[in-house]
Amino acid sequence: MKDMIWPPVRKGDILLSARKRLLSILSLSTGLVGLVSALLSLPVTLDEYPVQSILAIIGPALFFSGPVILDRTGAIKTLSAILIGSIYGMILFQALSIGGAANPVLIYLIGLPVLATFLIGYRSGIVTGALVVLTYGSIYAFNDLIPVSSIPLTRNIIATWNTIVLVLLGLSLTAWAALFQREMERANRRLDDARCEADKANMAKSDLLAHVSHEIRTPMNGILGMAQSLKDTPLSVDQKRQVDLITSSGDMLMAIINDVLDLSKVEAGALELSEREFDLRALVDNACQLHDTAARRKGLTLKPVFGDLPAQRVLGDPHRIAQILNNLISNAVKFTHKGEITVDVGCTGADMVEFRVRDSGDGIDADLAARIFTPFSQASAETSHTHGGTGLGLAICRNLCTLMNGEIELESSPGAGSTFIVRLPLRVVRDETVDPAHSAASAPDTIESENTESGTIRPLHILAADDNETNRLVLSALLQRHPVELSLVEDGKSAVAAWQSGHFDLILMDVRMPVMDGLAATREIRALEKRHHKPATPIIALTANVMKDQIRGYRDIGMDGVLAKPISPDRLDDLLRSVSDKDGRSAPVPKTQSY
Ligand code: ADP
Repeated sequence: MKDMIWPPVRKGDILLSARKRLLSILSLSTGLVGLVSALLSLPVTLDEYPVQSILAIIGPALFFSGPVILDRTGAIKTLSAILIGSIYGMILFQALSIGGAANPVLIYLIGLPVLATFLIGYRSGIVTGALVVLTYGSIYAFNDLIPVSSIPLTRNIIATWNTIVLVLLGLSLTAWAALFQREMERANRRLDDARCEADKANMAKSDLLAHVSHEIRTPMNGILGMAQSLKDTPLSVDQKRQVDLITSSGDMLMAIINDVLDLSKVEAGALELSEREFDLRALVDNACQLHDTAARRKGLTLKPVFGDLPAQRVLGDPHRIAQILNNLISNAVKFTHKGEITVDVGCTGADMVEFRVRDSGDGIDADLAARIFTPFSQASAETSHTHGGTGLGLAICRNLCTLMNGEIELESSPGAGSTFIVRLPLRVVRDETVDPAHSAASAPDTIESENTESGTIRPLHILAADDNETNRLVLSALLQRHPVELSLVEDGKSAVAAWQSGHFDLILMDVRMPVMDGLAATREIRALEKRHHKPATPIIALTANVMKDQIRGYRDIGMDGVLAKPISPDRLDDLLRSVSDKDGRSAPVPKTQSY
């Protein structure tokens, strides 16, 4: 049917194409119906109404040029308005000169608002509808003023004519509706396809980012790990400053990688929230403490203010809430030169917690405020030179808030400081509502903000498998500080062989390795332990792949925990301490670091 309808349509805009086709059908059918009716009534009307009779033939004939003009100009709205206006004029002229309200041609008027809606838009439809009602009303009201025709408009003629018109109208309406329906279906299908393509592209982008970030983390592991172990050697003041600079630049780079990764994960819908019980006050206190030194260095006071909180413990994702607060507080410290920063926390309704991070800084102008939550928005290009940052932090905050069914907004004006307001639905935990399934202890693969308990590290025999030489060097450098005997191998197969020929307190297992990967090696070791009734050796995945479902996967095949790359010396120490505490019987799950 598509190719039978002329004029041909431009690819892409399906609805415009449908409207063009409708206009063409309408022009042709108006021309046809008008011409047939004019020719049929010509013998009766020609003597008494010669002008009307001729016009009744010329008018419809002109409609045949509609598709040609449309093809040439493409001016669909103008042409539709001209068409509907001419139909209206012709009908009115006919009715006013022959019989007034008794002229059956008036029935055509009903179709005009429908056409205007389809072809121009709903506003034109409403205006045309009002005009038609007004026209009907006026003709009936002033019918006595219209000259009575001497042409016999008998009931029979009217009935026949009306039937023909209605049938034709019905047929064309059905054709239009069918056409429109078909075009809408095609438009929907194309939209679906486009969405699928966009989703695929987004997934590819996320994959690429995840891959790139993984690839960057491995060398970063080398840089940060070696810098850390350099710090433990005797250094001159200058050398120490240089190593500190390497560490802080590395940390900054890691923060940017994590931001980009976070944003792409949220956008791809791949960021999972955890829900567990946590202490809201402690979380806010920690966040303030983290930035306290930086604030003091600038002569600022930074303090939490606890308003009306019914209870301290709430259910939510503490890691992500801390991430939001950290970003807001660090911005407040960055952009405030004197005065104070407060972090107000209170409840604004049942299970609705409000955080207000208020500063006495420069404030934010309306232009930046309007786009501040979109990625890469900064006051000016200079901002990133002066203060660093990528303009991603607030975009991530907004995405995280939305993901938690909350909201974030800004109140600020230049010179008057800024207040970022975060509202999150966090279920307040009363004693009787504590759900053990959600308590911190039963959510081991989430990220802990508290440190594990401290203790001494006893002499340990550790087996580490990693195919990357840098990683092996870093691990040995980091472990040098402890009474540890380290055996290093390069793949899973060698790890299994080494495990069979010795006793180890802990195995650090890279996941991706040639010959045999870390997962297969773990499976084999667990099977051998079972077969020979040996106690389970703690196996910790050593990997940059620390998404929640990946961690779950490691757990499912028998690993006891994850140590994320780049290896944080503190986390490594925590792990060694907990293995020492447990006397090597079984390792608790170490906390994965922020990723
Ligand atoms: P960045 O990593 O650049 O800090 P953000 O998304 O966190 O990215 O912030 C975007 C921009 O918003 C900042 O570069 C700064 O211009 C402005 N901004 C954010 N917080 C404040 C604040 N408290 N006071 C003034 N300007 C701010």
